[in-house]
Amino acid sequence: MVKLSLFYLAAVSVRVAAAYNIDARQVSGASVGTSAGSPATQTSFSFTLATNNPTAVPLASIVSNAASQATHTLATTYAPGSTPTVVSGAPPLPNAALLAPSNYPALDVVVPTDSPEVQQWIQEVNNSGVAIPDFAPTVASGACGANAAAAADQTRCWWTCTGCVAATDITTCPDKLTWGLTYDDGPSPYTEDLLQFLDQNNLKTTFFAVGSRVISFPNILQTEYMGGHQIAVHTWSHPPLTTLTNAQIIGELGWSKKVIKDVLGVTPSHFRPPFGDIDNRVRAIAQAMGLTPVIWTRISPQATFDTDDFDLHSGLTTASHVLQNWDYISANASLINTGFILLEHDLFQQSVDIATGYILPDALLHQPPFKMVPVIECLNKPLSDAYVELNDNSTNPPPSGSVPSASAGASGSSGGSGSSGGSGSSKGSAVATAGLPGLGAVFALLMAILAGTTLLLS
Ligand SMILES: [Zn+2]
Repeated sequence: MVKLSLFYLAAVSVRVAAAYNIDARQVSGASVGTSAGSPATQTSFSFTLATNNPTAVPLASIVSNAASQATHTLATTYAPGSTPTVVSGAPPLPNAALLAPSNYPALDVVVPTDSPEVQQWIQEVNNSGVAIPDFAPTVASGACGANAAAAADQTRCWWTCTGCVAATDITTCPDKLTWGLTYDDGPSPYTEDLLQFLDQNNLKTTFFAVGSRVISFPNILQTEYMGGHQIAVHTWSHPPLTTLTNAQIIGELGWSKKVIKDVLGVTPSHFRPPFGDIDNRVRAIAQAMGLTPVIWTRISPQATFDTDDFDLHSGLTTASHVLQNWDYISANASLINTGFILLEHDLFQQSVDIATGYILPDALLHQPPFKMVPVIECLNKPLSDAYVELNDNSTNPPPSGSVPSASAGASGSSGGSGSSGGSGSSKGSAVATAGLPGLGAVFALLMAILAGTTLLLS
């Protein structure tokens, strides 16, 4: 687990709502910047935020054992057959009520590979002409230390453990101070709170949606999409992809593409690997399936643009740590010559609370201003390029050799079985964190939460 001790040397005090003023230490910290994950025992930091939201949940209440907040019904829902107005040429919205979860794999477990759908997608990948490197799956949840040879193999170009990026990886926005907003792991019962904040501030984001959440909350995904947010793939069950077989990777990406297509009528052209766990084998399979990878900005092994907001829910970090991370990220964002992409989540209330109460309000007052847009827009491409069926290929040609329409077939009919799953943020050695084994429990808890809140959102 990558942890930065330099942070802790700077501990002074928490100064939320103080005037924005990057001090010299923070500026000089450009090369050490942010670090995901922090010992929860550290409670005192120096950071400077421009503002807090008067309606923000108090920091002291953004803790792992926080009482569950009431979730809000969607302010806007869309009738089946509604025509999207934010993307030209989009097909009418499918009827989410007709979706049958029994036609999809089991939630939050790696999909089985013997279904007709996965078998078809495997065939399509094989026929794509894209060469899939013959790397063995990584072990131990992709932990870097347990996969030293793989990490050292430069031909594998394993981002998780080395930061290696391929030409096709999107890790930054080209224009300085432009922020490609992203929220991962939803949709969830707390997504509506984020959507309301974004709407109130005329912001659009990219949602990296987990297929298991999409089939649970299709109406939320529809509201995101119809509101002009970018929808992208984040796998079916959120496994570290380098640990999977080729067939499993194809199944995870394929089912996620398919459920989004079934809910929205369009297929995403971009995906984010859970935990940022991607190597050249995963890249090649994604390429063959028409998916361009989006990770997040990393300017040094320790300075990844990861707020670590995901770990608030479990208590592996604190709100103060997350704001400290954000403070460093925003300082570094002003220093680098490109724009940036930041990792945040909308799965748990704590992550949404820290975003809507603190990070986003602070970002909106940042000077010089951040231009906050979905990833596709930060790349200076139209929103239509985010979807296979709407992409005219002029500014966003599909990956070479890809078969991007592969998943756009009939409704699925496959059951699933298995016993693992997980979700989480990423670190420099993210998949190596001790968090992974516990993430199954996190998801079990999540499902209990969702079971209690579904009626509020349906
Ligand atoms: Zn994720």
